[in-house]
Amino acid sequence: MGLKLKRKPKRTWARAKAQRIRTVGPCRYCKAEITNDMSFVIFATKEPAHYECMKKDDGQQKVEKNLWANLQTKMVEKKPSAFSW
Ligand SMILES: [Zn+2]
Repeated sequence: MGLKLKRKPKRTWARAKAQRIRTVGPCRYCKAEITNDMSFVIFATKEPAHYECMKKDDGQQKVEKNLWANLQTKMVEKKPSAFSW
């Protein structure tokens, strides 16, 4: 009796990788698309930005520590008062 073995289609590495990488959105600063394999931050305004871009912005230096604390838990929940821009 011929039992047919159903073979799962081989996943190519490229495809598996492509599925894992998602687009987060355009960077707040450089407007380039951010993917989740990069270092990025998400502001209280739900705008994503490259971590490097945020670092370059002098105005963000003060809130960076605050932001990092929040990023540790990857929570988007932030106090609006700390983000007056
Ligand atoms: Zn950027």
